Amino acid sequence: MNHRLANLRALLRERKLDALFVTSDANARYLSGFSGSSGALLITEDIALLFTDSRYRIRAKREAPLFTLRESSVTAPIHRLLAEAIAEMGLQRVGFEANQMSVALYQRILDALRASVDNANPPTLSEADGLIEQLRAVKDADELAAIRRAVAITDAAFKAITPGLRPDQTEQQVAWMLEVAMRERGAEGLAFPIIVAAGPNAAQPHARAGDDRLGAGRPIIIDMGARVDGYHADLTRTIILGEPNEQFWNVYATVLEAQRQAITGVQAGMRAAEIDALARGVINAAGFGEHFGHGLGHGVGLAIHEAPSLRQTPPEQRDKSAQLQAGNVFSIEPGIYMESWGGVRIEDLALLHNDGVEILSQAPRLEPPSIR
Ligand code: ZN
Ligand code: ZN
Repeated sequence: MNHRLANLRALLRERKLDALFVTSDANARYLSGFSGSSGALLITEDIALLFTDSRYRIRAKREAPLFTLRESSVTAPIHRLLAEAIAEMGLQRVGFEANQMSVALYQRILDALRASVDNANPPTLSEADGLIEQLRAVKDADELAAIRRAVAITDAAFKAITPGLRPDQTEQQVAWMLEVAMRERGAEGLAFPIIVAAGPNAAQPHARAGDDRLGAGRPIIIDMGARVDGYHADLTRTIILGEPNEQFWNVYATVLEAQRQAITGVQAGMRAAEIDALARGVINAAGFGEHFGHGLGHGVGLAIHEAPSLRQTPPEQRDKSAQLQAGNVFSIEPGIYMESWGGVRIEDLALLHNDGVEILSQAPRLEPPSIR
C-alpha cells in the first residue's frame, strides 16, 4: 500500500492539493486495504487517516496498518471528524470525489467546516475526481494475482457446467449452477449477477436470467465473473445447444473477427478509442454496425467497470480518450444484438504488456466451421 500512497501524494502535489478526502469504497480499499463498506480516508502529504465506526474497528486495524483510525459515532459523525482534522492540520485546499460523494454529505461537511475553522480564511473543497482511478488503471503484482485467480475460477466454473447443459433447463437454473461452481472453487462472491440469456433474450446486452428455457438451435449468452479479494473477473461466451444455422455462424464469425482484430492490434500507447474503432470497423463492414451499441470494453479491478474505458468515440475526440499503458487490465467484448433474434457477445479479459496483450481468460469458445 505504501507505493500507492506515495503515487497519490505525487498527484496531490501536482494538483496543489493539501489533502484528498476519499469516500469511494473501492478507492479507499485500494489506498488503505480497508474493505469495510462504511468509511472514508483523509490523505495529506504526511498523514493518512481512516474514519470509520466501531463496527469496523478490528478490521480497520488489521487491514489498514498504515492509517491512523479516527472512530466515528452518532455524536462524532465523519463529516465532523473531517472538519476537525482539517482545522487541526490547517489544511487549505482539500480535494474530494464529486462523482462519489452525496450532495447531503457535501453540505454537512461545509456546515461542519464553518463551525470549526477560522472563518477569515476558510479552507476550500475542490473537485478532484479520477486521481485514484488513474492509479488503479495500472495494476500492481498483488492486484494481478487476485485478478488471475478470479479469472481462473470463472473459467473453471464455465468449463465444468456448460458441457452438461440441456435445452429444457431455464436461464436461472444455469445461472445458479454457475454461481455454485464459482463459489465452490473459491470465489468470495459474484462480480455481478450472472447473465444467462437464451434466444431473443440475448438481444439485450444486459439481460437478466429468467424462467425461459435455453432451447435448441438459438444463441445463449453467458456473462459471468468471480470476485476474489475484492477483484473481479468478467467473461462472456455465446454457446448454442443443437445445430447452429447459417445466420448464427455469420454473426458469430463477425464478432469473433472483431475481437481478434482488437486483440492483435492493441498496443501500449494507443488510445482506448482506437481499439474500439478497430473492432467496430469489422462489425460495420459486415453490415451489423447498428447492432453493436455498447463500447468495446472496460477496465476491470476492484470495480467491474473502471478505467480505462474502451468506448466508441468520434474521431475528432479520440486523442482525449485514455492512453493505454502496460499494466492495464480490460475486457474486449464486441457484440451484435438483434431484436427478436438474439445476440452474440464474446468477452475476454486482457492484460496489456509493453509488447502487446496477454489474454487472461482461458474458457473454451465455439469456433466457426472453417469452410463455409
Ligand atoms: Zn461481462
Ligand atoms: Zn464486461
